[in-house]
Amino acid sequence: MPQVVVALGGNLGDVPQTFRQAATLLESEVAQGDVTLSRLYRSTPVGAVAGDIFWNAAVVFETELEPLVLLGWLQTIESSLGRTRELHWGPRTLDLDLIFYGDEVLRLPRLTVPHPQAWLRRFVLAPVCDLQPDRQHPDLQESVSALLSRTTARPLPVRYCGATSRQPEIQSIAAEFPEVALQFVDRVTDISLQIGLGVIDSRAFSVEQLSEWRDRRFWIINDSADPSQFFRDILRACAGEVWPVDWPV
Ligand code: ATP
Ligand code: CA
Ligand code: CA
Repeated sequence: MPQVVVALGGNLGDVPQTFRQAATLLESEVAQGDVTLSRLYRSTPVGAVAGDIFWNAAVVFETELEPLVLLGWLQTIESSLGRTRELHWGPRTLDLDLIFYGDEVLRLPRLTVPHPQAWLRRFVLAPVCDLQPDRQHPDLQESVSALLSRTTARPLPVRYCGATSRQPEIQSIAAEFPEVALQFVDRVTDISLQIGLGVIDSRAFSVEQLSEWRDRRFWIINDSADPSQFFRDILRACAGEVWPVDWPV
């Protein structure tokens, strides 16, 4: 039976209580056997509209449900615990992201597994590392603890590959993060084996080149409508502080 990891996030209401309720619902409706909960974390919010400091945690369990059926259940549990969908990345009571589903690599219209940004999000990797430090990311073939170490290196190496004309703007965003050591590179291959984070600006390259690179490792392609905000969000997800707190009794 596949072993599944789900990341929990939220910043509205009594979030630790909501996390516990979510774990209980997963155990009664979705999981075969126990649902194991990680430590509880706080993290600086990602995204311009995200609101207050976030709470984060992760759970691991086994399930007989197919991936899309499981995703449907995650969304049902989000809704039943007060999630509304007005703003993408807006404040929310509960966000349940499917991080791993066994060793499967899925790229479906409604579901990408492993979650496409899990490998760079410290607020996901830290709680998952509590549960399964040695678990291998099936696509990147690196353990969760090794991925977490990429995000906690200081200074954090970030390589950016894109149009020269955008470099001043990218430089000024990186300057908001004292822990980041930014380097511009001309070739994507200069990114591949680094420790840290690689970012490619999609508008500087052809569609053919991008589709070839999409399958390669340890970088993220910036194809957002607001590339500056995207870059800032990615840096915050990778470099932003994440700290464990006690579960309230
Ligand atoms: P992010 O996915 O970047 O963390 P988000 O969690 O705020 O952003 P949502 O609004 O919760 O995004 O979800 C948007 C859509 O993402 C969902 O409707 C779902 O179909 C899709 N999705 C794709 N892959 C996953 C995944 N691994 N886990 C959860 N949802 C996913
Ligand atoms: Ca999310
Ligand atoms: Ca989500």
